[in-house]
Amino acid sequence: MQASKTQPINLPQSSMIDPFGRTIDYLRVSVTDRCDFRCVYCMAEDMTFLPKRDLLSLEELDRLCSVFIEKGVRRLRLTGGEPLVRKNIMHLIRQLSRHIRSGALEELTLTSNGSQLERFAGELADCGVRRINVSIDTLDPEKFQAITRWGKLDKVMRGIEAAEAAGLHVKINTVALKGFNEQEIPEMMRWAHGRGMDMTVIETMPMGEIDADRTDQYLPLSLLRASLEHDFTLTDIPFKTGGPARYVEVAETGGRLGFITPMTHNFCESCNRVRITCTGTLYMCLGQDDAADLREALRASEGNELLSSAIDEAIGRKPKGHDFVIDRRTRRPSVSRHMSVTGG
Ligand code: SAM
Ligand code: SF4
Repeated sequence: MQASKTQPINLPQSSMIDPFGRTIDYLRVSVTDRCDFRCVYCMAEDMTFLPKRDLLSLEELDRLCSVFIEKGVRRLRLTGGEPLVRKNIMHLIRQLSRHIRSGALEELTLTSNGSQLERFAGELADCGVRRINVSIDTLDPEKFQAITRWGKLDKVMRGIEAAEAAGLHVKINTVALKGFNEQEIPEMMRWAHGRGMDMTVIETMPMGEIDADRTDQYLPLSLLRASLEHDFTLTDIPFKTGGPARYVEVAETGGRLGFITPMTHNFCESCNRVRITCTGTLYMCLGQDDAADLREALRASEGNELLSSAIDEAIGRKPKGHDFVIDRRTRRPSVSRHMSVTGG
């Protein structure tokens, strides 16, 4: 492994402001499109992944993230695919942790399926990671295997325990799936809140071809909320974690439940984020196809000027929002790339 050539960033922070006046200070980086699970709503079982030669190296990812931080990014989330299956990922996380130590970055965090967490939790905490999102859609081991196709719930549970032991705050992410886990969500919420973990439920988004019909899976969270309100007292609270979730406090459990509702309630007006893929493509919106190739700018020169202007030019094109649709007439996904490419 080569040492990173990039220097710590000590420059005064500037800011990126899009044409709608939104400050962009949150970057999500998909470090790999690969995964050790095959969740049915996310991937087809027989996925074709990018050739490894197309991926940015860890040094290039570090350089790219560092330029974004220099330009005003304060929160950085690594995702994928499964970020912890990328070879030598801890090398990148350790490099990026210098921005936490310098104060340039407020938060370095990950979204993970938890399968490798038992191995990496201690090192992540050591690198200044304080919070981690772990995705679990059911607490039933057989259903877990069915929904992830390849996952093992006990391994993920050991990962969560290791994360808690290392002092990481774990938030549980659950995709609400009609006929699969809608009845189980109250129990999952009691379990998460009982362990002091926040939980967020997410509507399925029409991204990428999968083997199933998305209309069979889609559960509007307005319906889920109404059904939870039969048994729980939900109070809207202004709590924010930098993402699009709207939170309620649940009187009966004393915990927080977040709703991410890209379908029923579009949250684009407060969007503060952009995403880069593992090949260096910058997507200004999760739900739109317009993108900028930063790999070319990255590789064109050793200095960062070209890259910085390519980023400015792309932010200048950030669209107002997405328009996802799931219905029986619209059979094609709204965007053709899978969530694992852009990073959830
Ligand atoms: N592998 C990691 C994980 O599962 O947490 C990180 C990547 S995954 C793409 C990030 C999040 O996106 C997960 O919580 C996953 O459940 C969610 N997700 C994947 N496909 C989705 C879709 N089509 N609609 C809504 N959420 C989706
Ligand atoms: Fe992998 Fe995460 Fe997609 Fe599941 S949701 S297949 S764990 S990337």
